[in-house]
Amino acid sequence: MWRSCLAFLTLWLVLAFAGAARAAGPCHTNADVWGEEALANAASAYGLEWAPFGATEFGWMAYAPLIQQELHTQCGPGTPVFASQLAGFQQTHGLAPTGLFDAGTFQVLRGLWQERRPFVMARIRGECPDPPPINQLGYLVASEEHADRLTRLLRRDVLDAYRRMVAAARAEVPEIAADPELLQIFSGFRDPEADAARCAQQGNCDGLRRAVCSPHRTGTAVDLYVGQAPGRGVDSTAPASREYMARGATYRWLVANAGRFGFVPYVYEPWHWEYVRPWDPSFAP
Ligand SMILES: [Zn+2]
Repeated sequence: MWRSCLAFLTLWLVLAFAGAARAAGPCHTNADVWGEEALANAASAYGLEWAPFGATEFGWMAYAPLIQQELHTQCGPGTPVFASQLAGFQQTHGLAPTGLFDAGTFQVLRGLWQERRPFVMARIRGECPDPPPINQLGYLVASEEHADRLTRLLRRDVLDAYRRMVAAARAEVPEIAADPELLQIFSGFRDPEADAARCAQQGNCDGLRRAVCSPHRTGTAVDLYVGQAPGRGVDSTAPASREYMARGATYRWLVANAGRFGFVPYVYEPWHWEYVRPWDPSFAP
């Protein structure tokens, strides 16, 4: 039953996007060359059955904002321009330039995103970065803390960069300015010893990541409220939850702009961002 529903849904989406692919506009300028690939991507964006992080997911809309950013296009997954940009990316990275999204292409993208996280590179070298000296940490003010899970501290330079980023987001996106909850921090610096104690006490070790070596120990990682799907937590990794977050204006703004303030994303968690470089005043809006 579920299968046939899914097949019907996919068919409906293909037909819906068939119309979209024929549409005019700057994202459809090369439809004569990339129209078929656009249709195939439109279908797989919602229907592809795959397991990029171990568990089965359907579609890849949760990753579309980051992929579009990497391909330097604002055109959506079901457009000919997206397909042609994807083919260019595949060509550059030694993949067959099909213009079709697939798991192999995603692995290359994911590798690029992970390489931009010094914390991940340190873990690959077998290192676990030390927490910063306590005098490098600064306190959040109450309006910066999300009520769902209070956090207190961030490394001071990261807190400065965070404040500049939030000010820019509110200035640039009315929807973010209108809702003070958006971009509040629900986790910042986490003391490794307290983390380990909590993990043991609650029997919740977050897949052991929290206990073993969390990026939050560095004081440079922040979990930002980017909205939450009805009935889901602020950090629910359920595919439907992450897809919901990825559709929101807040996450999309972060994907396009957080780099200006020194923050890089973690593809699997739309709320988790890591600060990777000192703030450069030339990036100031
Ligand atoms: Zn986090």
